[in-house]
Amino acid sequence: MSDAGKKRKISGIDLGTTYSAIAHFDEYGKVDIIPNSDNERITPSVILFEDDEVIVGKIAKNQAVSNPENVVQFVKRHMGEPDWVRVINGREYTPEILSAIILKRIVSDAEDQIGEGISDVVITCPAYFNDNERKATMDAGKIAGLSVIGIINEPTAAAIAYGMNNLDRDVKALVYDLGGGTFDVTILHIDGNNVKVLATDGERRLGGKDWDDMLLNHVAEKFIEEHKIDPREDAEAYQDLVIKVEEAKKTLSKKPLAKIFAQCAGKSLKMQVTREEFEELTRPLLEQTETYLDVVLKKADLTWDSIDVVIPVGGMTRIPAVVQMLERVTKKKLEKGVNADECVAIGAAYWAAILKVREANSLAEKVQQGVATAAEKVQQAEAAAAVEEAVPEEIVGMLGGVVVQNVNSHSLGIVTIDKTGAKKNLIMIEEQTPLPA
Ligand code: AMP
Repeated sequence: MSDAGKKRKISGIDLGTTYSAIAHFDEYGKVDIIPNSDNERITPSVILFEDDEVIVGKIAKNQAVSNPENVVQFVKRHMGEPDWVRVINGREYTPEILSAIILKRIVSDAEDQIGEGISDVVITCPAYFNDNERKATMDAGKIAGLSVIGIINEPTAAAIAYGMNNLDRDVKALVYDLGGGTFDVTILHIDGNNVKVLATDGERRLGGKDWDDMLLNHVAEKFIEEHKIDPREDAEAYQDLVIKVEEAKKTLSKKPLAKIFAQCAGKSLKMQVTREEFEELTRPLLEQTETYLDVVLKKADLTWDSIDVVIPVGGMTRIPAVVQMLERVTKKKLEKGVNADECVAIGAAYWAAILKVREANSLAEKVQQGVATAAEKVQQAEAAAAVEEAVPEEIVGMLGGVVVQNVNSHSLGIVTIDKTGAKKNLIMIEEQTPLPA
């Protein structure tokens, strides 16, 4: 699907550390996820380089440990690092190029599914991404041949997805986002189609993988006790366990008990893990996330009484212990109306439509006033056509009025040198300042 003339569809892409997803306005005018060619709604952000072929998704994920020289994962953790490259078959790949490979697969699958070309996209990134990391995300999209019309923070996208379903509400919402590789907490004020970030914080290297590792180490120790062999030292056995512990973790979100069958060097171990055992093993990780709740509440200068909604985002928020902790600390039932795995991509698709509507409106104004250049007239016609094709007529007006305001997640300053020659960072715009500042 690469008919340039047809490349008009507007989409939102959640480019995740472990999984990615894409959403658009479907033929019924509803924003929905576009499944990949395996008919799955999320795709592992993992790449396998095999001979001349590059494979993205489940097959790559299943070889991540047993074939590490040819598999790349967790690329997002390196976005914006100027010196980071992965060398595969003698070729150097930057984080932008690797992310572009993931984006290309997601988009080409989506194009096949909907039978239309996709060009204009919004890609999401964590709230704490700095300028370099955002630019790298943008560049990845460009390398993938996409027109990246915006980058939006993941919690803001989740809030937009919530806000669009609750246009009559004026709430202070806390978004707790625990994904496969990253974690953040954000407090936002959502007033219908006005979304304002009040405070945000998190950890870029904390996520589902750490929970998996805790369980994996537990199983490995039992295996050593039984057979005096460490399955973590055998690539194939290790890979097998990585997949099995993640499955067991997911099972434990639904059932009180999960079975794990570990194999290594002709030996095997059948074991059971209870939900209580899993919770005990991973308690320090959960507590680590808990500390951020109060930190962000303080940064927003609020109390728990003033938080109206708690929105869980990320696959890990399906874990009952996560839900219980959040309900205990915030004294609220969690919001059930948003899908934890999908709301970021869905919010991004809304944001893409919002940006396109704004672009079309502002160009139309210029045309009406007779001040548009010839190029702007062409752009106006294109933007209007893109909106007409992608966005249901009845919500175009409403989208035009959506306002989103972010805060800067890092302090910004300049390095100064005092009389003694010592370097000092002089902060000019404090962390959590509403933008633009
Ligand atoms: P995300 O990056 O938001 O898609 O989150 C992916 C993480 O959520 C991975 O670590 C998954 O193993 C984890 N996850 C997905 N579904 C579940 C579930 N039902 N129970 C526990 N963890 C899950």
